[in-house]
Amino acid sequence: MEIVWRTAREGPLVGRSYQHLLHWSITTLQKPQEANKSSMSDNPAIANSAIRVRFAPSPTGYLHVGGARTALFNWLFARSKGGTMILRIEDTDAERNKPELVNGILEGLQWLGVDWDEGPFYQSQRTALYLDAARKLLASGAAFLCYCAAEKYVGGDHAEDGADSAKVRRVARCSCRDGQPSTPGVKPAVRFKVPLGGTTKFLDAVFGEREFSNDEIEDFVLVRSGKGVDRSAVTAQDDRSAVTAQDDRSAVTAQDEEFGQSMYQMSAVVDDVDMCITHVIRGADHISNTPKQVLLYRALGAEIPIFAHLPLILGADKSRLSKRHGATDVNMYRTEGFLPEAFRNFLALLGWAPGGDQEFLRTSQLLEKFSLEGVSRTNGVFDRDKLEWFNTQYLQKLPIEELLPYVEAQLKTSKLWKDEWASGIGHEWFSKTVDLLRPRVRLLPDFASWSRAFFGDEFERDPAAKEKFWKEPAKIKDLLSMTADALAALTDWSHDPCDHATRAVAEAAGVKAGLLINAIRVAIVGQAVAPPLFDSIVVLGQQRVVRRLRDAVSELG
Ligand SMILES: [Zn+2]
Repeated sequence: MEIVWRTAREGPLVGRSYQHLLHWSITTLQKPQEANKSSMSDNPAIANSAIRVRFAPSPTGYLHVGGARTALFNWLFARSKGGTMILRIEDTDAERNKPELVNGILEGLQWLGVDWDEGPFYQSQRTALYLDAARKLLASGAAFLCYCAAEKYVGGDHAEDGADSAKVRRVARCSCRDGQPSTPGVKPAVRFKVPLGGTTKFLDAVFGEREFSNDEIEDFVLVRSGKGVDRSAVTAQDDRSAVTAQDDRSAVTAQDEEFGQSMYQMSAVVDDVDMCITHVIRGADHISNTPKQVLLYRALGAEIPIFAHLPLILGADKSRLSKRHGATDVNMYRTEGFLPEAFRNFLALLGWAPGGDQEFLRTSQLLEKFSLEGVSRTNGVFDRDKLEWFNTQYLQKLPIEELLPYVEAQLKTSKLWKDEWASGIGHEWFSKTVDLLRPRVRLLPDFASWSRAFFGDEFERDPAAKEKFWKEPAKIKDLLSMTADALAALTDWSHDPCDHATRAVAEAAGVKAGLLINAIRVAIVGQAVAPPLFDSIVVLGQQRVVRRLRDAVSELG
């Protein structure tokens, strides 16, 4: 079949149509040699405000790192262009979807700072729309009723795992497509009538022009058969929402009783058309779905959106990211105490580069720089060490007032928070203390564990620190006792007087200042490593420091 892009537009429109996009899209596709990447997303024919993107997770699990990256790229694109972000829950698969998982996905997105303008829309509530489209396709001859046993189609078409691993095999065409049902009397499924011969191509904003032979695309199921003998059980490769049992929620009644659940390709395309999606930004594992969807758009007489497939995310060993590489659930990173902006920065660079060497990019900078042209075809590698590096960068570099709410939340969780730190002098103290601690903090919970002694009086002195810096207990006991007296006598509680008084004690006792400083650190904060001692002494306050030194003296016997 010859591909004629214009004819696709002649059929009835399922959704609104963007004539200006249509014109541009045809021009570009007819002249692929002139099509360059920048023309695709910066096309002046698309008013930025008309840009509409969607994130469409299936609630079959948690928000995976890969899904979060897809959501973020859609969000960055929409927000940087003044477009609209839509959230759609693809929950037509009643067997695999769990409604309670939707909350986890929404929470993950909220934590990540990815918000949306429309939705969430639930596909399980939109069945009528898909069946309506199926009837139109049957009426126009673009689809047919198939009565064949599922085995006939088992194996699917291009059984691909990733974009580059297509294992192409010839596919079956059954006689049903020519109006000769193989098994009359059973309930039929609706299949798409893929053109015989020819190719289907599309222009991908990342991967360029892609072309698929129609003979390698099976007549995929649009709508499964209704109750009764189910002839439409298809393989997972054919459709990610394939199931073997009937979905009661999407089963229809009365005049539609012969039809069952709408399949992924159908629901996704009908929704993208209905929601006027202009750019489909999603993982490269969807490239194999795209020719089917392009055929569907055309058959529906709908505008074909711009596709932008994102490279895969791999683990450090270059295999596809999975649980054995560590947590893949975004909410785990929230629990661990990563800052959302650090996580955003890290995720944004998984498959996108702004050009130049700069890696620390605040979200405002990501929004300034993000473009589909910057999306790489090379798979990104999820490197936990790099993520931790980003987190420490954000802990150190964020304006302190932006960091404080996260520390406050952490201290509240750990029951260390005091309301007096919320305002006035208390807030100044809190701010100064967090600022002092943050160069040595790796994750938010460190504020409540490693630096616990700064926020509360109940803390333990680390045995390893004692062993290292309280080697001669009798001597240390005398030194700390003298220091407590010296510091108690001070009238000016600031850095230099504390420093001088302490060094005077060391000098009088004939020991190195370093030895005393280390011993004091263990006594007052319980750790071998802490912020500079005299800064710590100042924020802790005279009363507390002297008391802790005397406690340490008792502890030393
Ligand atoms: Zn058939």
